[in-house]
Amino acid sequence: MGEWLEVTVAEKIRWNDGLYSLRFQAPLPAFKAGQFARVGLDVDGERIARPYSLVNAPDEALHEIHFNVVPDGPLSPRLARLEAGDALFVHSSVTGTMTMERTPAHRHLWLFATGTALGAFLSILKTNAPWDRAERVVLCHSVRRATDLTYGETIRRLKARHGDQIDFVPVVTREAHPGALRERIPALLASGEIERHIGLALSPEDAHVMLCGNSDMIEAVQQVLEPRGLRRHRRREPGHITVEKYH
Ligand SMILES: Cc1cc2nc3c(=O)[nH]c(=O)nc-3n(C[C@H](O)[C@H](O)[C@H](O)COP(=O)(O)OP(=O)(O)OC[C@H]3O[C@@H](n4cnc5c(N)ncnc54)[C@H](O)[C@@H]3O)c2cc1C
Repeated sequence: MGEWLEVTVAEKIRWNDGLYSLRFQAPLPAFKAGQFARVGLDVDGERIARPYSLVNAPDEALHEIHFNVVPDGPLSPRLARLEAGDALFVHSSVTGTMTMERTPAHRHLWLFATGTALGAFLSILKTNAPWDRAERVVLCHSVRRATDLTYGETIRRLKARHGDQIDFVPVVTREAHPGALRERIPALLASGEIERHIGLALSPEDAHVMLCGNSDMIEAVQQVLEPRGLRRHRRREPGHITVEKYH
């Protein structure tokens, strides 16, 4: 159900050669923070569309997507070439299960993103729900290069607003970067380094974990956490881990 809407790019952010965000106004129906929309372009008479998480909170006027260029991909290089004023299509059916509404009670919310998956968590963190429900929120953003650490200003604003309730843990895997951890997320969890770093234990009694982005990271983290008593959360079988795989 739903329909394609033709919208106009209001703003483009170029973070580096391979990382972009686009903002656009669209009459999308009410959605939940953490959900994704399908965005598309017409190429040689055919609509090519892919899912993208919305970075904006549901009550923000402009919708926003954050994406990296997959060099041989049919859509992402073309999205990266759009400029303010250009047209794109967005489908009116916004969907996805990685939302606070579907998250069981927890004291500590752990959010692990690779690359552009940060955007889904920023949408969630701009709403009140995580702050009303969790005593501590851990946001871990893993990227290859320091220049891929996007949305620094948004994260600084969250930190200024929520103080010690939030721990932001940047991870840069391919170069040393001040303040960032260096290992991949599954290794940081297996060694306990990330828990030592912020002084918080990740336990099945207290934690809900959201994993978003690269499926290798998502699978590997689950392999680390399952023996510790954390399992996938499903509607009919409550658990501790919610996932959204991008690729
Ligand atoms: C639920 C969902 C939400 C998504 N949200 C986002 C988002 O917010 N931001 C975003 O950048 N992408 C997101 N993606 C991926 C996105 O839909 C596209 O697949 C991606 O932008 C590449 O599109 P493409 O047409 O250029 O190449 P595709 O034909 O889609 O993919 C080409 C190849 O690249 C791989 N690939 C796909 N995405 C990536 C990536 N991000 N990095 C590296 N390799 C990739 C694919 O597995 C495939 O092998 C999401 C995917 C899903 C399923």
